[in-house]
Amino acid sequence: SLKGKTAVITGSTSGIGLGIAWELARAGADVVLNSFTDNPEDHALAEEIASETGVKARYIQADMSKAESARSLIETAGVCDILVNNAGIQHVAPIDEFPVAKWDAIIAINMSSAFHTTAVALPMMRKAGWGRVVNIASAHGLTASPYKSAYVTAKHGIVGMTKTVALETAREDITCNAICPGYVLTPLVESQIPDTAKKYDMTEEEAKQKVILERQPSKEFATVEQIGGTTVFLCSDAAAQITGTTISIDGGWTAL
Ligand code: NAD
Repeated sequence: SLKGKTAVITGSTSGIGLGIAWELARAGADVVLNSFTDNPEDHALAEEIASETGVKARYIQADMSKAESARSLIETAGVCDILVNNAGIQHVAPIDEFPVAKWDAIIAINMSSAFHTTAVALPMMRKAGWGRVVNIASAHGLTASPYKSAYVTAKHGIVGMTKTVALETAREDITCNAICPGYVLTPLVESQIPDTAKKYDMTEEEAKQKVILERQPSKEFATVEQIGGTTVFLCSDAAAQITGTTISIDGGWTAL
């Protein structure tokens, strides 16, 4: 059980981050949810997790595109035994047409925010004598697709950061690993379906099966519960010697 541990999950009002928060809470960890907004719904998500699972849950607003607010998230949490760097956005365009502002935002949110949160969380983990960092990378942290230059660059970067943090903490009871999901049906992916369907003149269902899942040999989406369960595993004693590596949850994508 993760009872007594506190987990901070960046970008956790939706999709994978929210799924991870639920699984960590079901495993007994107190959870801190985060996004850049400050809506009643955000706080309500934390209340729902607390009332369903009995753990302590709170929501802290912080924009992962900004260095200072990424750092302030961990400072405001005050304790961070488990850090899940999950916040991420996507933009698809050829590199010669890729908007500079989108490049900067993707590098900041998907990659640099993990540098800032990890830098502030590690001293807390050292003080506690235990810590787990789980970075949500992607199959695109191990392989590329056209038109996703910023995303692929940021995800490869986070895999490199994962290895570095693992080496810097190797002699301590702290591990750092990356999970590399293939396609998971979250709002991030759902938002790509209408455009894909239009582009290939297909129904949305055909676009899902024939285009989105084209590279996923299982022809099934991974689920947020599976990503959450793997995060819980990485926090378990069985995973204490797993550090500096990647775990793919991609239905065979990176085996191709
Ligand atoms: P999502 O859009 O459903 O959720 C993203 C979350 O990040 C939301 O809670 C959003 O509010 C938050 N967020 C966005 N910008 C933020 C900011 N500036 N500051 C703080 N929070 C911010 O996306 P998702 O599919 O759940 O993706 C989560 C992570 O998983 C991302 O890093 C993504 O790259 C990765 N991933 C997703 C898939 C997939 O198929 N869905 C596959 C591989 C990796």
